[in-house]
Amino acid sequence: MDTILVVNAGSSSVKFQVFAVDGDGRLQRQLKGQMDGIGSRPRLRATGVKGDTLADRAYPIEAVADVSAALMVAGSWLRDELRITPMAVGHRVVHGGPDHDRPIPVDHGLVARLERYIALAPLHQPHNLAPIKSLLANFPSLPQVACFDTAFHRGHDAVADQYAIPYQLYEEGVRRYGFHGLSYEYIARTLPKVAPEIATGRVIVAHLGSGASMCAMRGGRSVESTMGFTALDGLPMGTRPGQIDPGVVLYLMAEKGMTPGRVQDFLYRDCGLKGLSGVSNDMRELLESHDPRAAFAIDYFAYRVGLCAGMLAAALQGVDAFVFTAGIGENSSAIRARVAEKLAWLGVSLDAGENAKHALKISQSGSRVPVYVVPTDEERMIAEHTLSVLWGANSNIKHMRAS
Ligand code: AMP
Repeated sequence: MDTILVVNAGSSSVKFQVFAVDGDGRLQRQLKGQMDGIGSRPRLRATGVKGDTLADRAYPIEAVADVSAALMVAGSWLRDELRITPMAVGHRVVHGGPDHDRPIPVDHGLVARLERYIALAPLHQPHNLAPIKSLLANFPSLPQVACFDTAFHRGHDAVADQYAIPYQLYEEGVRRYGFHGLSYEYIARTLPKVAPEIATGRVIVAHLGSGASMCAMRGGRSVESTMGFTALDGLPMGTRPGQIDPGVVLYLMAEKGMTPGRVQDFLYRDCGLKGLSGVSNDMRELLESHDPRAAFAIDYFAYRVGLCAGMLAAALQGVDAFVFTAGIGENSSAIRARVAEKLAWLGVSLDAGENAKHALKISQSGSRVPVYVVPTDEERMIAEHTLSVLWGANSNIKHMRAS
């Protein structure tokens, strides 16, 4: 059986999924896994398609000291115990920089170019690249494909792509890239199948998860994003503040004596819902909490989603549909209802019953702007990209194997 391994590597965990490829290029998910606690208390967990446990085991810290080692241990488990030897590996890479508007096969030259963007995504890019480098070193003939979170947004108009700063900085790469592109691309590909009536129109997609952003799409293409140079901008997130006056950063450095590294940690880890509430970064816990600060964090979140919807509606010069996706967007009828209240002026009226059922279409039939819930699947998007890059690069690729 031909399989594709999809890898999403972070600082302390590596998530992976395996997709089987049939003769017609259809992909079927086989399993999901995760190595957590890298460098502290490593633990491999994996489940099959029906949620059945395939692995749940701890490793000694020295066996899984870093992200690369985590992927090697997970790869050995796949090969030795499940007899899975992937024909290719697709990687989520957060930053493709200004030049990459599509997925691309990995080679040493690409890795060197992508390393230049570590400064633009310091908490993600090095960890995304580490397993790529170790697979290149250990399995040089194993095809790998890099799939970028920025790529889907690369076609933005110049007015959406630039900051009002000297052009030299734009040329150096200080641009409004936008992120969550693999999620938005999956939604754009899915809408013609599940909601063809809106797929070619002006659609605002709200990817509301631990990381959160919104994308304005016209005809299935991104025209504006709430995220910019880094994944800090836009909506408040689990631990990131979203839009913030750069003067606050200057204040933290000048008045609080915070170093750039400390400010970075603060903005990525201590702000957002966690910082606002002092209770949790997790929306489920906030919804369950009786603490007034938790309630305020929820109010703030819905308010900012509403504000950003106004901005994106202006970018699109009107809205034909609104789509919720990701952990909060797909699962929380309460948050969807709160957000919908903020969108009433746009012509949104929710159907409470359909919303409670997490139906595909959750707006009333008379709602001027229909509202949908469309589950995202970034891993499937990566697997699809990996396959099409491979088939584009080499029609005999189906017969290639990891050495
Ligand atoms: P993601 O990053 O897409 O996995 O989304 C994670 C976020 O979704 C966390 O804040 C979770 O609390 C939130 N979430 C998941 N399920 C629910 C739910 N049923 N109700 C509210 N929030 C949820």
